[in-house]
Amino acid sequence: MSSLKIENMDVRHGQLKAVRNVSLSIEKGEVIALIGANGAGKTTFLRAISGAHTLTAGRIYLNDNDITQRPSHQRVNAGLALVPEGRKLFTNMTTEENLLLGATSARKGEWNVEKIFEVFPNLIKRRHTKTGTMSGGEQQATAIGRALMSNPDILILDEVSLGLSPLVVDQVYQNLEKLLATDTTIILVEQDLSRAMKVASRQSRGVHARRRNCSR
Ligand code: ATP
Repeated sequence: MSSLKIENMDVRHGQLKAVRNVSLSIEKGEVIALIGANGAGKTTFLRAISGAHTLTAGRIYLNDNDITQRPSHQRVNAGLALVPEGRKLFTNMTTEENLLLGATSARKGEWNVEKIFEVFPNLIKRRHTKTGTMSGGEQQATAIGRALMSNPDILILDEVSLGLSPLVVDQVYQNLEKLLATDTTIILVEQDLSRAMKVASRQSRGVHARRRNCSR
């Protein structure tokens, strides 16, 4: 059974067709990297999956249920979580408060605040710190943690390395390695090709591949 299936997706920004006839099928536990230049439509594609943009054509199925018409909050309840480009944290709130906001979907699962701190130990000392004062890497870890708090079946990561120094990107990816070792299904958009290749280490398009790379 596919975790996520996208059939012939088109998404427009006004007259501009940003996503054109994209089909994709992702099995449970796979890690897929989407690679493309600035403006290729990656963010629009991810936002359409998470319900932030309406499709002009195509269907989205999550665990065989058609979620094409469902609003974003229902998609979170159904098991999708997006870590948006630019993180979009509540910067006047602490790390812990941001994490707890991610738990509002009340989906059952292993993720809670303590487990997030296990996977992202750099956040422990920032538990009661307002996220607006934290480093880019700590903010990114909080954004990923907040998404995990909804216990998603599928985690969608939009350019986690954007705006971070190479050293901090290394730290974020070191943290992600722990996540990749679990059975979480992940769609990852990344402009850094070598990073993407490391994470989604196999280039096969076969449905049985554990990890795959796709480009539009
Ligand atoms: P980047 O790596 O720069 O984020 P991307 O591959 O994620 O690029 P998108 O942000 O999805 O690409 O943009 C795809 C196309 O849609 C681009 O031509 C962009 O200018 C356009 N676009 C994106 N958002 C909007 C918007 N809100 N209104 C109009 N056009 C938009």
